[in-house]
Amino acid sequence: MATLNGDPNAYDVTQFAKGLVGTCLCGSVKVTIHDCGLFTKRRGHICHCANCRKVSGSFAASNLIIEEAKVEIEDQRGTLTKFVDNQTGSGTPLDRYFCSRCGNPIKSVTPLYLGKVVLKMGLFPRIPAPEFETFALHRHEWQGLHRNVELYKIKAFGEKL
Ligand SMILES: [Zn+2]
Ligand SMILES: [Zn+2]
Repeated sequence: MATLNGDPNAYDVTQFAKGLVGTCLCGSVKVTIHDCGLFTKRRGHICHCANCRKVSGSFAASNLIIEEAKVEIEDQRGTLTKFVDNQTGSGTPLDRYFCSRCGNPIKSVTPLYLGKVVLKMGLFPRIPAPEFETFALHRHEWQGLHRNVELYKIKAFGEKL
């Protein structure tokens, strides 16, 4: 499963007309998004907050906030594990789920988004064009700008950059 082609262009968006399926690196945790409109408009966001960076092991994280009812998670080897993140910018603890076998981040759950989950989009073969960026104040100066992506200084739908 980990040997899937990493080229997003190898996957025509028409094959995701009903949703997206992805797995963690070791294949234990399988995530299916049941959503017919994933590639019909911009979806998801890029987050530059310190915690997203740590969890993603990168300079930013690619996230999608989506209704929990649309997300199916199969924990095939019982490796889905929760870390309670108490050091959040909002002060509200956040549950970060990851695969304890391969370390792949899977999703976050916060009471601030009731009935929704924040999915880690690196799980999937193709990622929809993001709608906005959060914590854009914390962008690294060497990063390029994405076209048509709204930049919020800190919180989503808060003050724009
Ligand atoms: Zn895994
Ligand atoms: Zn973040």
